[in-house]
Amino acid sequence: MTFEYAPAPESRGIVDIKASYGLFVDGEFVEAKSSFKTINPATEETLAEVADASADDVDRAVAAARRAYDTVWGPMPGAERAKYLFRIARLIQERSRELAVLESIDNGKPIRESRDVDLPLVAAHFFYYAGWADKLGHAGFGPDPRPLGVAGQVIPWNFPLLMLAWKIAPALACGNTVVLKPAETTPLTALAFAEICVQAELPPGVVNIVTGAGETGRALVEHPGIDKVAFTGSTEVGRQIARSVAGTAKKLTLELGGKAANIVFDDAPLDQAVEGIVNGIFFNQGHVCCAGSRLLVQESVAEELLDRLKARMTTLRVGDPLDKNTDVGAINSAAQLAKIRELSDAGEAEGATRWSPACELPERGFWFTPTVFTGVAASHRIAREEIFGPVLSVLTFRTPAEALEKANNTPYGLSAGIWTDKGSRILWMAERLRAGVVWANTFNKFDPASPFGGYKESGFGREGGRHGLEAYVR
Ligand code: NDP
Repeated sequence: MTFEYAPAPESRGIVDIKASYGLFVDGEFVEAKSSFKTINPATEETLAEVADASADDVDRAVAAARRAYDTVWGPMPGAERAKYLFRIARLIQERSRELAVLESIDNGKPIRESRDVDLPLVAAHFFYYAGWADKLGHAGFGPDPRPLGVAGQVIPWNFPLLMLAWKIAPALACGNTVVLKPAETTPLTALAFAEICVQAELPPGVVNIVTGAGETGRALVEHPGIDKVAFTGSTEVGRQIARSVAGTAKKLTLELGGKAANIVFDDAPLDQAVEGIVNGIFFNQGHVCCAGSRLLVQESVAEELLDRLKARMTTLRVGDPLDKNTDVGAINSAAQLAKIRELSDAGEAEGATRWSPACELPERGFWFTPTVFTGVAASHRIAREEIFGPVLSVLTFRTPAEALEKANNTPYGLSAGIWTDKGSRILWMAERLRAGVVWANTFNKFDPASPFGGYKESGFGREGGRHGLEAYVR
């Protein structure tokens, strides 16, 4: 049962959101000709006007990054670059409460997650790659690996600051300069990061932030002055980018969608598995590329597991992202909410059984009740397409071979989870699962030292760990 809790909202007083923001180019905030609004998805209130970078603005940012690369950052010894990265990491820690609140306001994710997951990982990524900056000769890419030059980086809205850290930290550690475009719906923490670069006295032009919509992203990835494109987002846009980069000398890494199988065998500790399933699909409202969105459960325990899962789902608190008791926050945008609704309706229309706990949703803002579909067939859209929302599709299996076949029956291959008591079964499955990351008796665990990335339509290239350096060196 859900206990009544008094509201426990985190104070907004710690963040100072300006009425308008410029672009961050060559160490300064500069104006653009047009702007767009960013809103709080939990209330639909306008938070700020943000500069909309044109192709000319992108051009200026790339030129600034090139100058900084040629004159300062490229020639700088790794041990000196490391000092800046350590300084940035410490500033992120010092300002982490403020950044967590800002992230929750702009993105809609619960403060519990931005405070306890996103921000600690953001700082950890900068610390981790700061440590590599003067040791690149020992990373396995030859005695003196050289940077590529200017990196154009485009990131999505689901983990705005964390995706920025995944992109910027390794690029800078290897001696590259960057132009980064945050997602249109979540630009504010990237702009706060620009302030941190100023605070850290990072040389002008090493980091440039160009805010805008898809067209700004296109202008960046198609710019002839960049040497490397790093993209995280939808498979569709990833395909467009791969086409535009083909035939150029640009290096490319793509981290795209997923439709991960979370596989529960009959010998799994069921309560622990239920927690893993909940974490796998309801963490960050399911806006997670590696979300465990397909639950594969062994037939003999399916009924019991689903009963326990439903009981657990009735205790999830959906609501104010800034409330410390909230488990599931707001959907990031009206467009994403429409997509989740459309796919869920398709699930019902195709014959799956829909279930949600009783749940009172706030009147304003974008919300979706945690939902589970049973009786799902492998051919259903909800079993094949990335819903990117708090919606779980449940399929059953009888044997490990069947579980494996069903798990691999997807165009994606980003992650997977295995729940069983048997170590040998974990190894047997993990060897055969076509997924970049396989978690065993846990889910959604991240560490800056471990590589992350996909097979098949989930993209290519690895981020994180020593492998993550490879994308940024010659
Ligand atoms: P997109 O792939 O459109 O967005 C990712 C980033 O790319 C954003 O910064 C976006 O800008 C930018 N962008 C859009 N079009 C282009 C382009 N032609 N060239 C270069 N950059 C571009 O994802 P959406 O936000 O539209 O989400 C759609 C679906 O994608 C989701 O429902 C989800 O299924 C999936 N998705 C997967 C993610 C993952 O991590 N695997 C992350 C986000 C989404 P802008 O924000 O302004 O559109």
